[in-house]
Amino acid sequence: MKIKKGIAVSPGVAVALAVVIDTEDFDIPERHVPVDHAQAELARLKKAVKVSKKEILDLQKRTVERIGKETASIFDFHLGMLADKILQKKFSDTITGDHVTAEYAVATVLRGYAKEFLAMPQYLADRVKDVYDIEKRLLRNLTGQRRQSLSHLAKDVIVLAHDLTPSQAAGMDRRHILGMAIDAGGQTSHTAIVARALGIPAVVGLNDITGEAAGGDTVIIDGNRGTVVINPDEKTLAEYTKIAHEQVEFLHSLDALRDLPAITRDGHEIRLLGNIEFPEEVDTVLEKGGDGIGLYRTEFLYLGADSEPTEEDHYRAYRQVIDTCKDRTVVIRTTDLGADKYTQSRARMPEPNPFLGCRSIRFCLQNLPMFKTQIRAILRASIDAEVSMLFPLITNILELRQAKTIVRDVAEDLEEENLEHRADIPIGMMVETPSAALQCDAFAKEVDFFSIGTNDLVQYTLAVDRGNERVASLFSVAHPAVLRLLKQVIRTGQRHDVPVSVCGEVAGDPVFTLLLLGMGLRIFSCAPSAIPEIKQIIRLITMDNAMRISRRVMGFETDKEVIKYLRVETRSVLPKAMQD
Ligand code: PEP
Ligand code: MG
Repeated sequence: MKIKKGIAVSPGVAVALAVVIDTEDFDIPERHVPVDHAQAELARLKKAVKVSKKEILDLQKRTVERIGKETASIFDFHLGMLADKILQKKFSDTITGDHVTAEYAVATVLRGYAKEFLAMPQYLADRVKDVYDIEKRLLRNLTGQRRQSLSHLAKDVIVLAHDLTPSQAAGMDRRHILGMAIDAGGQTSHTAIVARALGIPAVVGLNDITGEAAGGDTVIIDGNRGTVVINPDEKTLAEYTKIAHEQVEFLHSLDALRDLPAITRDGHEIRLLGNIEFPEEVDTVLEKGGDGIGLYRTEFLYLGADSEPTEEDHYRAYRQVIDTCKDRTVVIRTTDLGADKYTQSRARMPEPNPFLGCRSIRFCLQNLPMFKTQIRAILRASIDAEVSMLFPLITNILELRQAKTIVRDVAEDLEEENLEHRADIPIGMMVETPSAALQCDAFAKEVDFFSIGTNDLVQYTLAVDRGNERVASLFSVAHPAVLRLLKQVIRTGQRHDVPVSVCGEVAGDPVFTLLLLGMGLRIFSCAPSAIPEIKQIIRLITMDNAMRISRRVMGFETDKEVIKYLRVETRSVLPKAMQD
């Protein structure tokens, strides 16, 4: 038995046999073939390209059906590469010129491409992954091995991978993937976001899980504690199997809460909203008993797309969300590109410190045509609907005023063009830096609501990169400094009658529900899968109790004490809460 510790990114416990993705040794040895074999190798390659194209088209079609057009567009890049004449020529030149196998040609040419991507000024890590994705597909089709498809699994598995490519993550078959363990990444990797959205227990940042476990090993994923157990002994296996069963029963029991209000025992009504990345996720939020959308991360419209979304692309996505939500709240966040959000491609110059660079609202204010396109679509889509607009990463008042001025300008343009729109849309800002939190009394006079983004607030307060597994143990929302900022923003909102929500991951973490309620938080926005459990806790607590807990917590000096205390208190309210 081997126990590995990583970063818990999606809660829950799962036990199943492992499927290891990426264990193939792609270090293809140079294999020379006789000169007169070149034509045969070219024919093999041609066939593999054809089969690969067909597979990608099928995958794209299924992704459109299951997740949506925006996500499916990531495959356009794959198809484009396979159709690329220059690439074809490089393959055939390598085969005929160097007298090598088609496999060797594919591996060397595509690895050369990957290196070029990495060296390019406009380096985009996701594109490199796409190149490797294409390489793997071609090699599989050349060697005749079946690709281990994550979209068509016949049995329940735990997926182990170095990292999932965008196409693997988008095509995953939720029914059979019980858990995921990933070598790379942190809280905001594709894999973490998709795992949370789909409610699959996951641990990332494991360094070498793919080297330490093999396909067919029994693996336990503990997405609450960030632990992975490889080939557990009988006792451990029995313990975890029991926990996994109890968890299924527990989640099942929460289904009954769907149509019940999120209200405390002493009658305080709480708004429980969902975070989404794709319009299709609205259904899950509503199925889980959410009351609307508290954070629509629109940058996912850009994910994998080769060109910027048009006004109509934006409009269609927003209308889909709004129409599915009917008259419920929808908070559309303007594009949060830059830093960890898939967009180094969009930065004109690579940045030495992208988290402190031109990201989010800064990027938008420097790219006005793009920003205005999105705002036009939001204003047009919001007629007769409960929609608000949310600006990310505001750090100073002038920035906020500038963004608001642009909204006014856009509304005037639409007016002049006689296009129906909503000019008086409520405008809120994310509080995700210490500067915004400390100055929130001034901001409160200029916004309609605050939404606290704890993921970024923690990293900027504690100087801990949220995506770096090496400092993950320092990334703690329970740090007393972070808690003080949180409390200050919530209290300031109350004083100014400005609604405050929390939409960072902490809003969906049951360990923190009591504390947040006690601090005065009345709006939670979290991953859809977390909604039922948070609702359950809310319904079991009185506000007096929550306030007592919050007062006590504010007296602690370390995050460890905070977490320990909150776990005990949460268990006393909900003994089966999915927590460590
Ligand atoms: C946050 O920072 O907490 C947040 C919700 O925004 P994102 O995770 O999209 O950066
Ligand atoms: Mg953020």
